Amino acid sequence: MLKSLQGSTVIVTGGSRGIGKGIALRFGEAGLNVLVVSRSEADASAVARAIGPTASGLGADVSTPEGCSAMAKAAIDRYGAINVLCANAGIFPAAKLTEMTPADFDHVISTNLRSTFLSVSAVLPAMTAAGGGRIVLTSSITGPVTGYPGWSHYGASKAGQLGFMRTAAIELAPKGITVNAVLPGNIFTEGLEGMGPDYIAKMEASIPLGRLGTVADIANAALFLASEEAGYITGQTITVDGGQILPESLGALEAMAG
Ligand code: NAP
Repeated sequence: MLKSLQGSTVIVTGGSRGIGKGIALRFGEAGLNVLVVSRSEADASAVARAIGPTASGLGADVSTPEGCSAMAKAAIDRYGAINVLCANAGIFPAAKLTEMTPADFDHVISTNLRSTFLSVSAVLPAMTAAGGGRIVLTSSITGPVTGYPGWSHYGASKAGQLGFMRTAAIELAPKGITVNAVLPGNIFTEGLEGMGPDYIAKMEASIPLGRLGTVADIANAALFLASEEAGYITGQTITVDGGQILPESLGALEAMAG
C-alpha cells in the first residue's frame, strides 16, 4: 500500500481520452486534485466531471509555450500547487519515409517531444518553490526499443523524450524533482475499438502475457512513479507491455506456446 497522495495536485496532459484519461481517473481515485488538459476543453471537462469536484478540465495546446503557461497557471489558480506532472499528450499519425513531408515530421516532434520540454519547463517554478515534485512522461516501446513501419517520426519523438529525461533528471535532482517515464506497449484504447477482432487477435499473438494492456496498467505505473515511495528513482523507465519486447523471434513465441 502506497502512502496517500490525497490533496496533492496532478496535471495530466492528453487526459481527455485513452491512456491519459486512465491516468486522470486513477489519480482522481487516489485523492489528488486533477487538472485534465487537452486541446478540446469540452472533452477534458467531461473527464473531470467523471472524477468529481476535485478535478477540472482545461483546453490548451501543449505544443505551444502559451498553452503550457496557461496550464501551469490554471493549476496554481485552482489548486495552489503542482506536485505531479504526467506529460502524456501525444499523436501517432503514420507515414512511411517515401511519403513523409518535413511538415509531418515537425508536427509529430512538436506535439510529442517539444511539448515534453514545454510542459516540464512550465511546471518548474511551482515545483521548485514547493521544494520538489514528480514528473512522469508517457513514452512508448516504439522508438526507445522497437520500430514500426510508418512511425519513424513517432519513434524519434518517443526516444527523444528519454534523452530529454536523462539530463532533466540530473538537472532537477537538486530541486527534489524526479523525472521518469512509462513505456507502454499495445494498449487497448477507444482508438482501437473499431479495429475489429482479427486486428486485436493479431496484436495479442505477439504479447507473451496474451492480452493488450489496459489504460489502468499504465496509470498504476504512473501512480507508483508519482508516489513518495518512488522518491529515490529518477531518470528511469518502466516498460508496461506484457512482455512484448522480449521474444527474439517468431520462433520464440511459438516455442512459448508449445
Ligand atoms: P489518444 O487516445 O489519441 O489521446 C491523445 C490525447 O492527447 C488526447 O487527450 C488528445 O486530446 C491529447 N492531445 C493531442 N495533442 C495535443 C496537444 N497538442 N495539446 C494537448 N493535448 C493534446 O492517445 P493514447 O493512445 O492514449 O496515447 C497517449 C500517449 O501514450 C501518447 O503519448 C502515446 O504516444 C503514448 N502511447 C500510446 C500507446 C497505445 O497503445 N495507445 C502505446 C505507447 C505509447 P485533443 O485531441 O483534444 O488535444
